[in-house]
Amino acid sequence: KRVFLNGEWKNAEEAKISVFDRGFVFGDGLYEVIPFYNGKFFLKEDHLNRLSYGLKEINIEFEIDGINDVLLKAIREADLDGSDGAAYIQVTRGVAPRIHSYPSESKPTVLIYAFPVVLEGFEEKSVDVLVSEDYRWHRCDIKSTSLVANVAMNNEAVKNGFHENVLHRNGVITEGSHSSVFFVRNKVVYTHPNGKFILPGITRKATIDLCRANNIQIIETPLSIDQLSTVDEVFLTGTTTQILAVRSVVMNGVARFKQNQIGEITRILQQELIGKTRRYI
Ligand code: PLP
Repeated sequence: KRVFLNGEWKNAEEAKISVFDRGFVFGDGLYEVIPFYNGKFFLKEDHLNRLSYGLKEINIEFEIDGINDVLLKAIREADLDGSDGAAYIQVTRGVAPRIHSYPSESKPTVLIYAFPVVLEGFEEKSVDVLVSEDYRWHRCDIKSTSLVANVAMNNEAVKNGFHENVLHRNGVITEGSHSSVFFVRNKVVYTHPNGKFILPGITRKATIDLCRANNIQIIETPLSIDQLSTVDEVFLTGTTTQILAVRSVVMNGVARFKQNQIGEITRILQQELIGKTRRYI
């Protein structure tokens, strides 16, 4: 596997990072995952804008424009021209003595590589999800590599046979452990508004745009766990998740939502996404 690390392409085994890298020591860094279909990036600018936003929020100075060529090269280095996959980007604050406050001088560590993903077939699946408490920090809009809460939550779900979590903060549903969550009630689509409690998902944004383009009403307002029993459809969105139907939402061993067939609005949006990502390539 070939990776780009700090300006050079290397075999993964030869790419080394300092034990004093703040990404390793503090999780002081950000990441981004950009999908490509048939070797062509999808919504790359949106992903790079989100990365720029995060870098600005945590004061990492890094010129993002330079990585455009690296991203294109990443697909070739991974032999994925003409295939589906995603590019992984990680930028940390770099190497410095272990002091919490930002070092006066440090050079960001930059890692980029592409990997294959099977993005087809999501529209045939329907998954079970577990309601969990959202005990993450209050800056979920920053795509930080500090994912210990997300991985712990998702591990609990997977260990118990669930695919993903539906997280709630004080009874308000925010998002998944690694996806955005949508609901449909009486043909109206609902999702939590952007802000500090969710990651501004790029697939979330694409899905909202698809709703608007297809005259499906979309309301960005949070739903509570008590409202779960009133919805007709639930689906997840994400770069590798795509638009994934939810079959059941389980809380404390009880299904608060259950649906055996993929819902009508979910199906429309899935087909629209497939149209955007495949048909015209
Ligand atoms: N929410 C969280 C917490 C995530 O980690 C992700 C993706 O990794 C998403 C939402 C979906 O974001 P996107 O559609 O940009 O992949």
